[in-house]
Amino acid sequence: MRLARRQALAGLGALALARPAWARSGPDLALYEAIRDEGLKRGQAMTYAAGLVDGVGSRLMGSPGMRRAYDWSLARLRELGLSDPRLEPIGPFGLSWRQIRAWARTTAPDGAPFVVQAAPWSVATNGVIEGDVIALPLATDEDLQRAQGKLAGKVVLLGPPPAPGADGRAVVRYTDEEVIRGDAAEAVRAYYRTVAERRVRQGREGLFKARRNAFLAAEGALAAVVSGGAHPGVMTVDGGELGGRPWLATERPAFPVLYLSGEGYARCWRQSQAGAVRLQMEIVTEEGDPAEPGYNVVAEIPGTDPRLKAQVVLAGAHLDSWAAGAGAADNGAGVAATLEAVRILRALNFTPRRTIRIVLYGGEEQGLYGSEAYARQRLGHIPRSTAPEQLALPVEGRRAKAGPLRKGLEYEDFSAAFNLDGGSGRIRGVFTGGNPVLAALYRDWIAPLKDLGVLAVYDGPHWPADQSTFTEIGLPGISFLQDPLDYDSRAHHTNLDTLERLSPGDLAQAATVLAIFLANSANAAERAPRQGLTG
Ligand SMILES: [Zn+2]
Repeated sequence: MRLARRQALAGLGALALARPAWARSGPDLALYEAIRDEGLKRGQAMTYAAGLVDGVGSRLMGSPGMRRAYDWSLARLRELGLSDPRLEPIGPFGLSWRQIRAWARTTAPDGAPFVVQAAPWSVATNGVIEGDVIALPLATDEDLQRAQGKLAGKVVLLGPPPAPGADGRAVVRYTDEEVIRGDAAEAVRAYYRTVAERRVRQGREGLFKARRNAFLAAEGALAAVVSGGAHPGVMTVDGGELGGRPWLATERPAFPVLYLSGEGYARCWRQSQAGAVRLQMEIVTEEGDPAEPGYNVVAEIPGTDPRLKAQVVLAGAHLDSWAAGAGAADNGAGVAATLEAVRILRALNFTPRRTIRIVLYGGEEQGLYGSEAYARQRLGHIPRSTAPEQLALPVEGRRAKAGPLRKGLEYEDFSAAFNLDGGSGRIRGVFTGGNPVLAALYRDWIAPLKDLGVLAVYDGPHWPADQSTFTEIGLPGISFLQDPLDYDSRAHHTNLDTLERLSPGDLAQAATVLAIFLANSANAAERAPRQGLTG
């Protein structure tokens, strides 16, 4: 990606001279008005969101909830009259798992109950279990050596509690100045500047966690407990603390793993330093196929121009979520806005010249599995390293390449992929992934959207997500700067990611802006311009 940016900047001067015809003609303002009218006055985004978030619930990849979400999505796409709604396989995923029940309480020194959640894919406890809590540093191999012989039959707290989070603003909206200055884009650039060194460290940590898990199992630990994080009153539950790929039966910890709310965990830690704490707990789960298949949900509004209909404009969001909460901001909001954008276009009887394809990705949270499979099957792919230290990395880190791009059949006809995965906040800016020609074009497209708060186009990449899959193979992968609202303080991978996290007005704006981008892309005179292949 960094190479892509260099190439992009090097090409800027020459490309700015040759502005494509579609950029000169300017956007179709009557169409803008019609889309805004439908999306902002008769919007249905919250109806879609409630159907998915409350009606279906959490959608851990491979779980029964995810299977219900496939059915729900297919039904909505059929209702919208899209062409050929279908599930496209993305390969066997891993263990089909869901939590039926989990609880924990101390039996000494007092009887405190806790907010808990089984770690995703945790083994069950097979009845109520109880043991002394042990709180030791377990961050290095030396720590493990020192812990030898002390863990048998114990409930092991996995490391000291994180320092309490700073009392920042719970709900964040960017000011116009922040959007125009690109403060958020600068944070993304800072991330990419340090990504290489961070990946090395995270790879090491991932491998260590696998060793630690094997050690705990060998020592006969009764169970492990993980902190739900530093945000007050919020429990963050994802795969990060476990290391490896816990959805594979061969890689998950052999003992039950329970997340405790941050405060509950910190209390147990303090109490165990002061004296004896006993924890009683139960995890009841349902397990199915150890190689449950994964899918993307796909459907089209077919293009109508015989010359252009083979070209595809993609609108995507990820359907899967983590298990705690109900996957509202991450990413029920993106799914709802994508469906709503399509509904708006259908309500206006919009006839695209190019084909608009909807893809609701599976397996984003475990490593962009859905978009990677889509690209591999249709567009092309760069083989990835499967070295253990790569697989030990968190989602966004598993990107080491092991070969050149192999182009797929649809590579040349591909236009652009739009990805909405930033919560329910309104759209404030557009990231073109390092494509200054596209950025110049999009600046024309957003000019009539100032009053909706859409104020900036950034040439660089956004946080890694499904759009990255496309930019990495040299295709336009577009994502949006959205007002964060309480995404970072309450929603991201937490037990509080429920319908309350969604803002109806913001979601209607996001769907409306997306619909405008889809309509413009589908009917522009030329296919979206590309940059050279990204390093
Ligand atoms: Zn997401």
